[in-house]
Amino acid sequence: MESIEKLLEPSRPKLCDSCLGRMIYISDGAYRCEVCGRVALDDLGKVKRYLDKNGVAPISEIAEATKVSQELIELSYIDGKLEIPAEKIASKCVRCGKGLRSGRFCQDCRIELANKLKALYGKDV
Ligand SMILES: [Zn+2]
Ligand SMILES: [Zn+2]
Repeated sequence: MESIEKLLEPSRPKLCDSCLGRMIYISDGAYRCEVCGRVALDDLGKVKRYLDKNGVAPISEIAEATKVSQELIELSYIDGKLEIPAEKIASKCVRCGKGLRSGRFCQDCRIELANKLKALYGKDV
C-alpha cells in the first residue's frame, strides 16, 4: 500500500538531530545515526513502542499519546505493518475499544474503515 509509505515519509529521520550524521534504518521504525549512534523513531516506530509499553489501546488514544495521525495507525493495522502480539489482544476493537469476540475491528469500525479506504483508493478493498 503506497499511501502508508507516503504518510510515513515525512516522519522518517534523515539526519541526526545532534550531529547531522546520516540516520540508518535498523528495524521496527527505528533509525540509528551512523556517526554518534543516536536512535530516533519514525511515526510507526513511535506507535510500536507505545503498544509494547502500554498494550493494546484504542487508536484514538494511541494517536493522542504519540501525536501520530489516526489514519496512519488505521492503515498500518490494515496493511499488517502493526501486529498485535497474541498475548496482548484483549478482545477489544483496536480502533474504538469496544468489546469483541474475534478479530481486530468491531463491525462499526470495519464499515467505517472500508468506506475510508474506498475514498482513499477509489475502489472496494
Ligand atoms: Zn549523530
Ligand atoms: Zn470499533
